[in-house]
Amino acid sequence: MKKVTSADSLITISHYRNVLESEGIEAFIRNEHLSGILGEMPFQEVWPELWVRNDLDLDRARQLIDAAITDESPPESWRCKKCDAENEGQFAACWKCEAPV
Ligand SMILES: [Zn+2]
Repeated sequence: MKKVTSADSLITISHYRNVLESEGIEAFIRNEHLSGILGEMPFQEVWPELWVRNDLDLDRARQLIDAAITDESPPESWRCKKCDAENEGQFAACWKCEAPV
């Protein structure tokens, strides 16, 4: 068994586990219940952890989770070169003057 990652929220870890299981990797969560007992303690030691049962799955599991993290983080905002307007990252052209990124 190998630890893949930890996160400050059980929701995040559950999501990662779903990602791995959808790829046929057997994964389980540790510290699942600790946060409820200890309250809002901001220590990484009590964060829920994601583990894989088969050590050989570790590299693939990490790749899948890296990809899942990339998918979720919002794209960086950018500033229009033409009119200097601030644009959100998901837009490929300026909302104000329609100049491309
Ligand atoms: Zn512009």
